[in-house]
Amino acid sequence: MGRRRKLLPPKPCEKCGQHADRLVRVKESAQTPWIMVCYTCWPDIGEENEGYEYGGEWRASKRR
Ligand SMILES: [Zn+2]
Repeated sequence: MGRRRKLLPPKPCEKCGQHADRLVRVKESAQTPWIMVCYTCWPDIGEENEGYEYGGEWRASKRR
């Protein structure tokens, strides 16, 4: 059994600072840059904000 999984180090959430192996890339508004937030903080970002954009999920472990 090869243990060669590609595991990236967890990234910190840019809202709460907690490291997570799954983050969501979002844009809070048209004026803010893209940020990476954890699934706990994601609901705090208003989807109804003008300019809100969802940029997909980031995962530490990518299985191919
Ligand atoms: Zn967070």
